[in-house]
Amino acid sequence: MTVQWQEQVSLKPFNTFGIDVKARYFCQPHDDEQIREALNRAHAQGLPVQVIGGGSNLLLTQDVDALVLHVASRGVQVISDDGHAVIVEAQAGEPWHPFVQWTLGQGYCGLENLSLIPGTVGAAPMQNVGAYGVEIKDVFAGLTALDRETGELREFDLAACTFGYRDSVFKRNPGRWLILRVRFALSHTLQPHLDYGPVRQRLAEQGNAEPTAQAISDAICSIRREKLPDPAELGNAGSFFKNPVVSAECVERIRAQHPGVVAYPLADSQVKLAAGWLIEQAGWKGYREGDAGVHRLQSLVLVNYGQASGAQMHALAQQIQADILQRFGVALEMEPNLW
Ligand code: FAD
Ligand code: NAP
Repeated sequence: MTVQWQEQVSLKPFNTFGIDVKARYFCQPHDDEQIREALNRAHAQGLPVQVIGGGSNLLLTQDVDALVLHVASRGVQVISDDGHAVIVEAQAGEPWHPFVQWTLGQGYCGLENLSLIPGTVGAAPMQNVGAYGVEIKDVFAGLTALDRETGELREFDLAACTFGYRDSVFKRNPGRWLILRVRFALSHTLQPHLDYGPVRQRLAEQGNAEPTAQAISDAICSIRREKLPDPAELGNAGSFFKNPVVSAECVERIRAQHPGVVAYPLADSQVKLAAGWLIEQAGWKGYREGDAGVHRLQSLVLVNYGQASGAQMHALAQQIQADILQRFGVALEMEPNLW
């Protein structure tokens, strides 16, 4: 069936910042055929195409003079299950958190730490989504994408995705591949990852010394609900800046002035600084200018109190970046994709 195009569609309901810009054209293809058809039609008209999933990692700063293709494909399939290891495939348009809950309901372990992340399955590999010590690369079994340059299907294994910290080949080549479906290597046996942040403590408070994957997911959901704003109530795109990875010397220089600096050693004597800590130290926590602000509980999250434009959110982000560079000599990189 031919996919309908609409004209001059407000993207406000399609981005979690709640920014009100218009798409020149908008369509919601439900399967590979409709996706191909929309891309071909746009190509024939010389129209650029922008792909959108849940809009939870986007900052829209202007009307989008393109076809905005909202991936709406659905479906989850068990590819193999030998009683220990399970491969599950989900279509790109599947909402992420309900998919995670579905896997847990089936008794499949592996995605529990990635609970309550907004967005879609298809966008998850873009920035190798991660939380509480697990990244999608840790449970990745492969994906199928459409090469938008050649129109051919391509299979990506783990190596081909070159996943990094909030990074992948897809993020580094925006617009090249449209991810159609993703496969996950899950297990009937839980390998718990509890050493990150307050996860173990929350489970201990609940008297849960040997938690199930569902109990870990529930604990993480409760921690996240306490700390992070719900986009349905307060517009945001999660962490607005990546945690900067810097040299050990850089951290020592900062520590000399700020003994409480929050830093986590990585391989190759690199160190990950908590960007939220830097922003909080600089006094931005809870800052508000018009409807653009910094969340009162988590400084890494910029929020839209209602009517902020994307340009206002971006201007606030740039002010913060300049201040952190000046105070600490550290460059903060934006995490959301800027349109
Ligand atoms: P979108 O915002 O729609 O798109 C993001 C990018 O991916 C765009 O460039 C888009 O063009 C591209 N894209 C979308 N779908 C496809 C596709 N099928 N094929 C090719 N390209 C595509 N992120 C984390 O990593 N960890 C977290 O814990 C986390 N927590 C969050 C909490 C909150 C409250 C919010 C608002 C965001 C959070 N995020 C987190 C960020 C975000 O949810 C994730 O990055 C998520 O994977 C984005 O999915 P999406 O479908 O909303 O992508
Ligand atoms: P948090 O627990 O307050 O921790 C602050 C920062 O310290 C996090 O950014 C995290 O880095 C890092 N950290 C904490 N414990 C660590 C450890 N044991 N080893 C290495 N690094 C550690 O963070 P939060 O804001 O409440 O978020 C909790 C988790 O959800 C984090 O993993 C975070 O990345 C994820 N999250 C991501 C987004 C997003 O939009 N990207 C939004 C909300 C939450 P990392 O960020 O590298 O994990």
